[in-house]
Amino acid sequence: MIIKEAKFLMSNTRVEDCPAPNKPEYAFIGRSNVGKSSLINMLTEQKGLAKTSSSPGKTQLINHFLINDSWYLVDLPGYGYAKVSKGEREKWKKMINFYFQKRENLACVFVLIDSRHEPLKQDLEFINYLGGMGLPFVIVFTKLDKQSAVKTDSTIAAYQRKLLETWEELPQMFRTSAETKAGRDEILNFIDEVNIQ
Ligand code: GDP
Repeated sequence: MIIKEAKFLMSNTRVEDCPAPNKPEYAFIGRSNVGKSSLINMLTEQKGLAKTSSSPGKTQLINHFLINDSWYLVDLPGYGYAKVSKGEREKWKKMINFYFQKRENLACVFVLIDSRHEPLKQDLEFINYLGGMGLPFVIVFTKLDKQSAVKTDSTIAAYQRKLLETWEELPQMFRTSAETKAGRDEILNFIDEVNIQ
């Protein structure tokens, strides 16, 4: 896929206010600092499209972007901010849960995982939650350029082992770097394929 146009549409706190669900939608989510904004900017080749390093305490928003006039890219608020209050966390949970339940045009969720870390409880819980809801999702390992391929392989293998403790099948996995653009073609081709199904 060639990205001809990527534009910001709107930010919402309520699913009801999101754009009409008349186009396939791809949502990106992960722990804070995982590299979500960098990945979105890398995929769309627009440096400032998604804002990098958004800080905790800010309003948590569902951000819609329109790509090539044909599909929505959604930047969902991340999880795992150390300093977020219990109340904020509950608010996030409610909003995300609502989003996943109500967004009928959701074609796939991209769960971002920092490839430098051993499996984290929070990431595994989130993946298991998506799997439990029966939602289509894939895993995107980020920041490949920060370490050796051997280390990335070992992180991915560790995730696979953990997931196979609960699930019979593994989700598709992508290896990416916002620095080198690794994984860009693979993700865009994947979206193309899902869109024509
Ligand atoms: P977000 O909070 O998930 O949106 O994460 P950001 O995109 O703001 O990235 C967090 C930090 O990691 C920033 O300092 C980025 O420059 C850095 N970063 C993100 N992706 C990569 C990557 O692929 N390679 C490298 N080397 N740094 C990255």
